Amino acid sequence: MKRALITGVTGQDGSYLAELLLARDYEVHGVTRDANEAVTDGVIAHELDLATDSAIGELIADVEPHEIYNLAALSSVYQSWQNPTLTARLNGAVVAEMLAAVKLIHDRGTTGIRFIQASSAEIFGAPTQSPQNEQTAVRPTSPYGAAKAYAHGLVGAYRTAGVAASSVILYNHESPRRPETFVTRKITAAAARIASGSQETLELGNMDAQRDWGWAPDYADALFRAAQHPEADDFVIATGVSHSVRDFVAAAFSRAGVADWRDRVTVSDSLLRSGDAPLQLGDASKAQRVLGWSPTVEFDEIVSAMVDHDLALLR
Ligand code: GDP
Repeated sequence: MKRALITGVTGQDGSYLAELLLARDYEVHGVTRDANEAVTDGVIAHELDLATDSAIGELIADVEPHEIYNLAALSSVYQSWQNPTLTARLNGAVVAEMLAAVKLIHDRGTTGIRFIQASSAEIFGAPTQSPQNEQTAVRPTSPYGAAKAYAHGLVGAYRTAGVAASSVILYNHESPRRPETFVTRKITAAAARIASGSQETLELGNMDAQRDWGWAPDYADALFRAAQHPEADDFVIATGVSHSVRDFVAAAFSRAGVADWRDRVTVSDSLLRSGDAPLQLGDASKAQRVLGWSPTVEFDEIVSAMVDHDLALLR
């Protein structure tokens, strides 16, 4: 039986990936911050606060998984400006601790652990090249992107040193499991509440920002495929189609049955971000060619699934 270790197992991506691996008969180990976090049934939970505890290396040595998926992170670009040092620790230094532990095991020659790093389009900052691919210059513009860029560099360094480490550069990917700190869920939850009369207005930041939004379970599948591929590498995972925040608002309010969203949405300067990329657009043709991966859910379907979920929650 194959063993996998997932950090960030209670998050959106971790929960989808845990389900995917359990369905394939993996023994799934997951790192949780404390006992209060809800873990997918069947996952073997290990309590460890990665922010303060450096025991992740010991856990890797104990579990000796065949595959490690590092999905733990401070995941909000906005919050990374409030907590840059915590971001550096969780999104950067922890990756160094994990890769050092994997290399120790690799150097013993006992097993070939496959390490999958959930990297991010934010490593490209505000890219001048569109679409972005694995060769695009890494030039982050936020503490989140800078820490992810460090981790991306580390993965490359350890790969050069013989470790089977891949960096999977994920563009935004959404689902009903997104928290409202992300704009998509903030919009769909608000559209549902406005449609049902329990909220008046929605306050947003930059509505012109364009993002390449995909469906989170597809991105969990991409992480899995990267781990199965015999050669560790870097892969961009994206849909190749971008929409503005405004497009998302229009689609969500329309799905919720609110006739005119313009009366309901206000823009607040306090929600604008420094270094916010005007346009992100990923080119996943390498992942398609090498991993056989392609997105299965389009923008309108993603918006509808999230709005329908949020409307159902209010019934
Ligand atoms: P991120 O790309 O990982 O930071 O995902 P987000 O969903 O947080 O942000 C996506 C885009 O939406 C960014 O360009 C934000 O500036 C923009 N945005 C506009 N208004 C808001 C808002 O109220 N909350 C969030 N989180 N993002 C917003």
